[in-house]
Amino acid sequence: MNAPNTANARDAAPQSVRGMTDALPAESAMLTAIEAACTDAFRSFGYDEIRLPLLEKTELFARSIGGATDIVQKEMYTFEDRNGESLTLRPEGTAGCVRAALEHGLLNSQRRLWYCGPFFRHERPQKGRRRQFFQAGAEIFGVETPDADAEIIALCDRVWRRLGIGGLQLRLNSLGTEQSRREHRAALVAWLESRADDLDDDARARMHDNPLRVLDSKNPDTRKVIEQAPRLDDYLDDESRAHHESLQQMLGDLGIAFTPDPLLVRGLDYYTKTVFEWVVPDGGSQSTLCAGGRYDGLVGRLGGRATPAAGCAFGIDRIALLAQPQTHAPAGLDVYAVVVGDDARREVNRLAGQLRNRMPHLRLVVNCGGGSFKAQMRRAGKSDSKLALIVGDDEVRDGVATVKDMRGDLPQQRKPLGEVPACIENRLSS
Ligand code: ATP
Ligand code: MG
Repeated sequence: MNAPNTANARDAAPQSVRGMTDALPAESAMLTAIEAACTDAFRSFGYDEIRLPLLEKTELFARSIGGATDIVQKEMYTFEDRNGESLTLRPEGTAGCVRAALEHGLLNSQRRLWYCGPFFRHERPQKGRRRQFFQAGAEIFGVETPDADAEIIALCDRVWRRLGIGGLQLRLNSLGTEQSRREHRAALVAWLESRADDLDDDARARMHDNPLRVLDSKNPDTRKVIEQAPRLDDYLDDESRAHHESLQQMLGDLGIAFTPDPLLVRGLDYYTKTVFEWVVPDGGSQSTLCAGGRYDGLVGRLGGRATPAAGCAFGIDRIALLAQPQTHAPAGLDVYAVVVGDDARREVNRLAGQLRNRMPHLRLVVNCGGGSFKAQMRRAGKSDSKLALIVGDDEVRDGVATVKDMRGDLPQQRKPLGEVPACIENRLSS
């Protein structure tokens, strides 16, 4: 490898890769709170966590997501490792989850799993669209009846409630079985060919290898033409139709409103029957906050025994754009310990240990790097801590420490060292 040797290259401060943004503390706090809302809901519905590698063999995604999809054709970060094996940074979670479940024999009975972490797609970066982004997802395996689809949707509804996000639209469609899609596909391709002159270049390019995707074109002119295309719901087999009706009934019973969307097709090939998206109404092209559906054929496609499955994935970064920053502000400090002198340092370290044993969630900073009493008090003020614990060598000699209220105007208290932990705990809980 050639080391850059110009002065400029040496001096320039390094920058992050385009589309892979750093989440600074304020955004991180929000992302963590949103992930916690998702993962708490997953746990409360009896889902178990699975931690999956960020890298998989490239062929896993081509086989599962589908070779004609945008993700596989244009968006994957694929490279050869040192052994010449083609690897891909995961663009989504379901494929890896199914791979792992198969590899470890988890699919012999019903199984509920969840995951959370970064995903990678080489897309044009813009608001709500990054090249590294975060998803939390849940998958249920081994249930073919629509109660599993309803459970996944109810789980999503629970997450919105936890986050206080209202007004989202649940768009719902059924893609039928692979057989009914094949029949619809043949009719659709014939129709698209007959209207090729009225379609845009993108639609024309896709109409043979992925005609279903033409249906969710974002171009308004193309959309107008497509309104008359053969509709998938006219080709649904009886079983898919009954499944879909039963799901709608269950959502009604759960009090979850939905909007039927016959043009909703999703960007991954593995879906069968139910597909859904939770959308911010009028939110533009980055308005989908969560998406999912049923994928009864995927486990079989990856070499396992046919196993029905359903799942969903939340776009954590997009939800963060919507959440109110003040409700997920980084947690402030509880105590800033001001420590002047060597004996005081020893005493404060002992006290800090006691405090941390007593209150495992306590946020306590012990001043580092010395400084005068005044300078340390200034730091304590800047830290926006609730309390300051003040210990100098004089105090240690007298066996006391001072607890000062930094936000209100309660009088400061001088306490024997043995009483300090209880005093701080009381102050923080009042
Ligand atoms: P879109 O139509 O917006 O590209 P998608 O259909 O490609 O979405 P999915 O693969 O279903 O998205 O992923 C589930 C969710 O993950 C999306 O609804 C979205 O909230 C989020 N997501 C997908 N791609 C990105 C990205 N590049 N940056 C940020 N969030 C993303
Ligand atoms: Mg996409």
